[in-house]
Amino acid sequence: MGVHVKVGRPAVFLDRDGTLVAQVDDIINSSQLKILSGVPDGVRLLNRLGFLVIVITNQPVIGKGLTTRTKVKKINKVLYNWLSKKGAIIDAFYVCPHRHWDRCACRKPKLGLINAAVKKYNIDITNSFFIGDDMRDIETGKRARLKTILVKTGNAGRDRRYFDVKPNAIVRNFLFAAKFIARVRK
Ligand SMILES: [Mg+2]
Ligand SMILES: [Zn+2]
Repeated sequence: MGVHVKVGRPAVFLDRDGTLVAQVDDIINSSQLKILSGVPDGVRLLNRLGFLVIVITNQPVIGKGLTTRTKVKKINKVLYNWLSKKGAIIDAFYVCPHRHWDRCACRKPKLGLINAAVKKYNIDITNSFFIGDDMRDIETGKRARLKTILVKTGNAGRDRRYFDVKPNAIVRNFLFAAKFIARVRK
């Protein structure tokens, strides 16, 4: 056996609320999940291109005491099951449960969750992307040196006054983001 160099896999990191499902302020029940149009096709395309598909989501509803980590896990499982029935696979969900004043290391735009995923899955950052509906997501992607795509669903970048950053692309919805990735990937 020779020396084996493990080459990392590219990933697409995704926001959840406003990107995969309709933006609702506090999602505390799976009945509030409304999957946005084009999402199953978009996830399937990313699967087919060989990307890991990893959700990175801030859920301060947990820190606020409106729900629990376990219940959020169940909600994510409902989303996972629904998509997987359509042949669209989410490889992992990473959740920050904190409120912004908790000063954790994982709430976007901090990189705690992305760093954990990169380590666990041996992700090749230089060929990876972040898709989100908030400028907070774009800021997160930039800090992690990912290529970034803003979708015009959900908040459509309306938090621009807090995070004044430029995404690599701005597209109508998640499917267009996946198609953009299909075009520019190496
Ligand atoms: Mg969002
Ligand atoms: Zn956190």
